[in-house]
Amino acid sequence: MKAFHLLRAGANLLNLSTACGVLLASVTGTGLERGPQGLLLGTGYRPRLPKAGAFTVGNVVLYRADRAFIDAHPDLLSHEAAHSTQYAVCLGLPFLPLYGACAAWSQWRTGNPGSRNVFERAAGLGRGGYPEPRTSKSRRERPWPDSRRQGIGKPGGFRVRRVAGPLRKYRA
Ligand SMILES: [Zn+2]
Repeated sequence: MKAFHLLRAGANLLNLSTACGVLLASVTGTGLERGPQGLLLGTGYRPRLPKAGAFTVGNVVLYRADRAFIDAHPDLLSHEAAHSTQYAVCLGLPFLPLYGACAAWSQWRTGNPGSRNVFERAAGLGRGGYPEPRTSKSRRERPWPDSRRQGIGKPGGFRVRRVAGPLRKYRA
């Protein structure tokens, strides 16, 4: 195990988030086994919530699928490993309300809990199976408040309308 993984495992042991993950696995009858990077892998997680194929509590990554699936999807595992690091950075369970707030904000902005969630973006949207937000370009570059209503930022529409339409309107 690399020093970084050891440090992360130690931090999540001390902040009790890994203990919560182990407890959750135990309560839900999810089998645990050792995985790479100092992680514990749970397979066959059954409860309905959370609505995800995999999620992480401390150093415990809980999957609905089996070990063969985990080994076949290293990208997803590295995504979940990044969440494990985020637990360590957030000093353990404070990660959960912070994540929840970011997920709610993302849901409100994009209709998806991950696309504008800073934790999911840092862990890699694609690796976690989240779509990139469709309107990121228009939000970042919009030069006036109602650019979205004007359709600016939509593919093929940015340059033309930016110069021709609304500017004239607002200068009048
Ligand atoms: Zn994620």
